[in-house]
Amino acid sequence: MAPIRTRHGYIRRTMPTIKPDSLDLSPRPDDISLRQIQSATDEWIRTVGVRYFSELTNLAQLTEEVGELARLISRTYGEQSFKESDKHRDLGEEMADVLWVLVCLANQTGVDLSHEFHKRLEKKTARDKDRHRNNPKLSA
Ligand SMILES: [Mg+2]
Repeated sequence: MAPIRTRHGYIRRTMPTIKPDSLDLSPRPDDISLRQIQSATDEWIRTVGVRYFSELTNLAQLTEEVGELARLISRTYGEQSFKESDKHRDLGEEMADVLWVLVCLANQTGVDLSHEFHKRLEKKTARDKDRHRNNPKLSA
């Protein structure tokens, strides 16, 4: 399932096409793994979504979604007041939007987020094992 760069510059995966009516949209377990998230996203993109947007489009989308999350956090936990148009927004949904686009980028660039997460956790643990414990700002 190695990624392939097409003449349009997109990286498409070489997996069999699944028709949208065969897509399983039934409730999924709460403890879904990152690999399952990547797989489910890939399946959705190739059926309902047709294909991935380009990496540059998805980077712009990711920025947009992070902006929406920042806007909601600023109004919920910060000092900004809510506009009427912001009141229907949901923190979990905005985080899921960010995750969705990040997962798309991971899929189309061949990144295994599970593997990368474990690597990051090990690196942060080795690098910061005493850093935060010794930070007086965190004990207040
Ligand atoms: Mg959003």
